Amino acid sequence: MKGKSVCVWFEVCPLKRFYEQGKLDKKWIENYCLGNYLKCIRKKMEEEGAEHPGNMLPDGTIDENLK
Ligand code: SF4
Repeated sequence: MKGKSVCVWFEVCPLKRFYEQGKLDKKWIENYCLGNYLKCIRKKMEEEGAEHPGNMLPDGTIDENLK
């Protein structure tokens, strides 16, 4: 989409991979990675250098089904 911004971490983010594997609902990508990524907890922690699991969703909840 024209003029739409994408999170700088998108290419390396595990959630992109989970989405491509069909394991993650598109809404996460649309609402965060291609939308309001500034409110993403993963992004925040990434930039603070804080450890966070690969299966943590943008709102900070852990999805045990993602691996
Ligand atoms: S989940 Fe968060 S850190 Fe990962 S690409 Fe989406 S907005 Fe960026």
